[in-house]
Amino acid sequence: MKTTRILVATILVAALVFSFAGCSTSSTKLVMGTESGFAPFEYMDGSTMKGIDVDLANAIATEAGKTLSIEDMPFDSLLAAVEGGKIDFAAAGMTVNDERKLSVDFSDPYFDASQVVMVKKGSSIATADDLKNKKIAVQQGTTGDTLATAVSGATVDRPTKFADAVLELEQGKVDAVIIDSFPAQIYAAQYTDLQILAQPLDTEQYAIAVKKGNTALLATINKVIAKMKADGSLDALVKKYQDTLLG
Ligand code: GLN
Repeated sequence: MKTTRILVATILVAALVFSFAGCSTSSTKLVMGTESGFAPFEYMDGSTMKGIDVDLANAIATEAGKTLSIEDMPFDSLLAAVEGGKIDFAAAGMTVNDERKLSVDFSDPYFDASQVVMVKKGSSIATADDLKNKKIAVQQGTTGDTLATAVSGATVDRPTKFADAVLELEQGKVDAVIIDSFPAQIYAAQYTDLQILAQPLDTEQYAIAVKKGNTALLATINKVIAKMKADGSLDALVKKYQDTLLG
């Protein structure tokens, strides 16, 4: 009798532990997912991740009364991680679009961005039309990937890191990179033989992705974004990283 009771108690405790372990949303921790190769939004400074999204996520965690923890993963794994509850939200300079809205809910936008074309200085590519039949590198699963894939006759290479895409351009393995404008400026400052075409390919907006139906977290995120827009701290954040990374 006593053994049975102990057994039942053990099973109950084990079930409880497992149910918590399988769920990213604990009472004290808020888990952000991101891909750290996207300065100034997220980048590694030694072993510390920094960036606009990291600061924004910390403000969200503070508002929620939780501790932020960060999971670094390939960009194209983020939506599935949100859907599966492995992370509470994705903050990764992620562009809002209709296709992504089918799998996650997005916060209000917090940044206006665009996709641009990077080429070697002196390249024959001067406009988007010139990309036809060329070799283009992008980061896998990004909106730049979608744009490159739509270029007629183009060969698209898709590393999981933008740094590798830019390196391919630098080494002459591809003719162009399609990438978000702000990270492009940082790469152009780093590799002085690269340049950004004047005409952007599109305009986009970044937002934070949460699991469909997580209205409580979405409300907290939107509250923080609204407050930071209104009091100028979002602009200040962008400026802080612009000054840090572009001088
Ligand atoms: N803004 C782009 C997208 O959402 C790229 C984001 C990124 O690479 N972190 O696809």
